[in-house]
Amino acid sequence: MSAEPGPERPLPPESPAGAPFWAASRDRRLVLPWCRACEAPHWYPRGFCPRCLGEDLEWRPSPGAGEVHAVSVQPQAAHPGLAGRAPYAVALVALDEGVRMLLQVHGPTDPWAVAVGDRVVVGWEPLPDGRHLPTAEPAA
Ligand SMILES: [Zn+2]
Repeated sequence: MSAEPGPERPLPPESPAGAPFWAASRDRRLVLPWCRACEAPHWYPRGFCPRCLGEDLEWRPSPGAGEVHAVSVQPQAAHPGLAGRAPYAVALVALDEGVRMLLQVHGPTDPWAVAVGDRVVVGWEPLPDGRHLPTAEPAA
């Protein structure tokens, strides 16, 4: 009797507004949308600036460094495709540029040890279609 492969994790959807982010993720590069009018980044991508409603945006590279603003440990996988990972920590990460991203935390063996204020950097988890999913990893 052969083992059946588990259900696959669904791929993140790709919107036109987020296409540059996903394109850069193929090379494990983090880019953020910035508004040229008010010189502020935002997250998530939405095709306009949530601060001034301007539509003159450009994508700029980000070092991906920040700190844990809030954290939650998932005792059970949110999807059968993640079943082998539980428990795992999900963190709201405040990047140094001033935006917040919700990221699964990779690296620590004890997800309960992840704490508010921890320094993290964005890492990349490969997806089957060549894109990469951003994650949070402990800063070196
Ligand atoms: Zn703006």
